[in-house]
Amino acid sequence: MTGSISLGIPSVRSQEPDVSGRPNTPLLTDRFGRIGRDLRVSLTDKCNLRCQYCMPEEGIDPLPNDRLLNDDEIVRLISIALDKLGIEEIRFTGGEPLLRKGLESIVGQVSHMTNHLGVKPEMSLTTNALGLAKRAGKLKEAGLDRVNISIDSIDREVYAKLTRRDRLKDAVEGAKVAQEVGLTPVKVNAVLMPGVNDDQASPLLAFCLDNGYELRFIEYMPLGPRGSWKRGDMITAEDILDMLEKDFTLTPLGDTVRGTSPAELWGVAEGEHPAGRVGIIASVTRPFCGTCDRTRLTADGKIRNCLFGQSEIDLMGMMRDGASDDEIADRWRGAMWIKKAGHGIDDEGFLQPDRPMSAIGG
Ligand code: SAM
Ligand code: SF4
Repeated sequence: MTGSISLGIPSVRSQEPDVSGRPNTPLLTDRFGRIGRDLRVSLTDKCNLRCQYCMPEEGIDPLPNDRLLNDDEIVRLISIALDKLGIEEIRFTGGEPLLRKGLESIVGQVSHMTNHLGVKPEMSLTTNALGLAKRAGKLKEAGLDRVNISIDSIDREVYAKLTRRDRLKDAVEGAKVAQEVGLTPVKVNAVLMPGVNDDQASPLLAFCLDNGYELRFIEYMPLGPRGSWKRGDMITAEDILDMLEKDFTLTPLGDTVRGTSPAELWGVAEGEHPAGRVGIIASVTRPFCGTCDRTRLTADGKIRNCLFGQSEIDLMGMMRDGASDDEIADRWRGAMWIKKAGHGIDDEGFLQPDRPMSAIGG
């Protein structure tokens, strides 16, 4: 069955998943033997920044409130994921998750849950950190474990140009307080855009080493405003390494440290700055689709099995129609079973998803 869902943003195709051949397992397995254990929950599609790689200058039409999962629905879906589907890690994202008023309450409720192994899941937040300074303590108390903070430049003008808002001070303050209250390790995410912040690799690493944060560069992916990404112009993982090696002594840490994490890690030797680590997530040039363990829940209650997938499976509608936890879990399993082998960015005919990153949940 195929239908079109009106989202207030470009429409997407929703398909009833074909589960033929699926083994009888409660876990979120797919046809290539991968198992989804890391749940990304998008809490909103709204944002207070307009990062050039993510959002158009004018923003995107936000979903109306009645098309968004409410706090109770989010908590219910997370509990199904933990109880029935083998999820071990929860990350809240968006849009900007700090714009969700119920964040502390959602975190608090999830912190009392355990997964199928009887273990409390690791809970983290991916955020631009605006306003985090005021909320970090409460989030820690509610049970949040750690934060990933997006800071793409520590130069005020470059940050303002890239995010289209002059808010670097707030983001830096947010990271500092997160560190102080123990939302650690604080990880900093940075995307380098050609001609915008491509001279910021070393200053960002120096800033992170000085403050005890772990920096992760993410290769710029074709998920922002249409036409803004060009494969040939991208700053690749290789380029980033070359830039860093001019100023720092790096040693690859290898796959034993990496585990299933998409970041390749390097140790940074002590020099002008303290020793530390830096990671590069080479999503485009060295894709890690073969070990991907993610499943994504959008703010309007759809499952996306891949950032780049063209299909979404709706859970919100069936939940509002009275579906049981077991029925919801079954459809979620089906959504993951049909996950493709890879994102295919380099394939001829690659199609950018209809939704931008802020609406999918990065
Ligand atoms: N607003 C929060 C933030 O910025 O951290 C959470 C949502 S944001 C969509 C999640 C992550 O996606 C951020 O680290 C951001 O840098 C990354 N991101 C957004 N658009 C991207 C793109 N086109 N390529 C690579 N990473 C991107
Ligand atoms: Fe907002 Fe995060 Fe997208 Fe920047 S990357 S526009 S902070 S959602």
